[in-house]
Amino acid sequence: MSLPLVPNFIAGEWSRPAGLSTTPVFNPSTGDVIAECPAGGVAEVNAAVAAAQAAFPEWRETPAVERARVFFRYRHLVEQNFDALCQTVSREHGKTLAEARGSVYRGLENIEYACGVPTLLFGDTLENLARGVDCETILQPLGVCAGITPFNFPAMVPLWMFPLAIACGNTFVLKPSEKVPLTAVRLVELLEKAGLPKGVLNLVHGGRPAVDTLLTHPLVRAVSFVGSTPIAKYIYETGTRHGKRVQANGGAKNYIVIMPDADVPKTVEALSTAAFGCAGERCMAGSTALTVGAAAERLLPSLVAAARAIKVGPTDRAAQPDMGPVITAPHRDRVLSLVASGEQEGAKVICDGRGVKVADAPGGFYVGATIVDHVAQTMTLAREEVFGPVLNVMRMDDLDRAIEQTNRSAFGNGAAIFTNSGRAAREFKHRVKAGMVGINVGVPATMAMFPFTGWDDSFYGDLHIQGKEAVQFYTQQKVTTSRWFASGEGDVWRK
Ligand code: NAD
Repeated sequence: MSLPLVPNFIAGEWSRPAGLSTTPVFNPSTGDVIAECPAGGVAEVNAAVAAAQAAFPEWRETPAVERARVFFRYRHLVEQNFDALCQTVSREHGKTLAEARGSVYRGLENIEYACGVPTLLFGDTLENLARGVDCETILQPLGVCAGITPFNFPAMVPLWMFPLAIACGNTFVLKPSEKVPLTAVRLVELLEKAGLPKGVLNLVHGGRPAVDTLLTHPLVRAVSFVGSTPIAKYIYETGTRHGKRVQANGGAKNYIVIMPDADVPKTVEALSTAAFGCAGERCMAGSTALTVGAAAERLLPSLVAAARAIKVGPTDRAAQPDMGPVITAPHRDRVLSLVASGEQEGAKVICDGRGVKVADAPGGFYVGATIVDHVAQTMTLAREEVFGPVLNVMRMDDLDRAIEQTNRSAFGNGAAIFTNSGRAAREFKHRVKAGMVGINVGVPATMAMFPFTGWDDSFYGDLHIQGKEAVQFYTQQKVTTSRWFASGEGDVWRK
């Protein structure tokens, strides 16, 4: 039986381009191939951009309240189809259903934020800038915007982008990850159902050729990207060189500092979720615990017990595990080899998830919860983003050393501290070099109304995704200075 080919959506029509090469879409829980994703020819991207450009004049003239109404309907449809959407996320990504639900909710909040676009687009005015002269700013859409998204949040990350961009009056081309294209199809189908005019949102699948065409196309005005750091850097450099506005979120390595006075049960719970939630495939995963002084002895026995109790298994059936698989077999092998490299360089694996066996899904891509103690900065394991259920432990003498270690990272996405001391928390918040900080919060990922503020190698650009910064990103400001003459005064045609 031939596998379904994932469709593109261009100018309001669903199409399955024939004759192109394809990449397999897996169910990571079983290892089965469930669909084929078109590699996305240059022609498809060109057609999508042309459709988006053609739809732009009418869409930008559509009143903001009418644009918002489409997203009120969309919100309702996403909620009505919530369970099916979460199942698709879970099936092609491997998240548990509970994790899929959490992530789709985060996406839904972005749709809700976009519903507020009539007020988000308010400008400023100043009467009597000079005598009889008034000044106002307005925010106008840019034109065709593009979104390129990663595998790890198949619904949430696309929803970070196209609802707000479109609500602001732009048209859009979405290029989702070829590893998880099925959720994007569902998201686009629902927006079509909500009454979005043809051509305003287009969906094209593919890899590098599709991305390069978007990055260099003269009609694409802005590019939103989320993915790994090397690709984020490439997207930013190539896109800006071709005159585009670019926001490019990259990878991360997030530290969690545990002070000796931290509440042990609460910290263990938060740390397990931060490190092993979504099988560690989160840009905000707490992947390194920096234990200060006696914190290691207080914390590690319960942390190891909690990690050993995490049940790993397939997420595509009624009985849900605590943790699902990672995305592909090569990715699983990379995670395993990074743990082995740490061990060879002198670190100690104190909870070993490498040999995990899942009897009812032997073909799935599983790694059990793993904790590696005595990790040192010189080790590859300490520097590279692992993106799997692996928690490094580094032992620090005091808070100063822990902050120095956090600030040594090339990344700057998130950082957190667990303590009962307001003074330590304040010191950490003030000095730490990361865009999103948690105080007794393990995953300080921001919600729709706040920007997702990565720093350093975790973000290239000026205006972040989400919140008011995203409104600025998807619009350009115009300032009008006006003066009206009294009747007859300055009437140049009569002179
Ligand atoms: P990835 O960089 O491999 O892929 C992201 C997108 O770029 C995909 O659509 C892919 O098709 C495209 N792409 C891949 N290689 C390309 C190339 N050579 N040229 C042009 N385009 C290319 O990322 P991924 O593995 O899908 O996602 C995981 C990464 O995303 C992790 O590093 C994670 O930290 C990061 N991430 C970051 C954030 C954030 O907000 N900072 C959020 C989620 C994920």
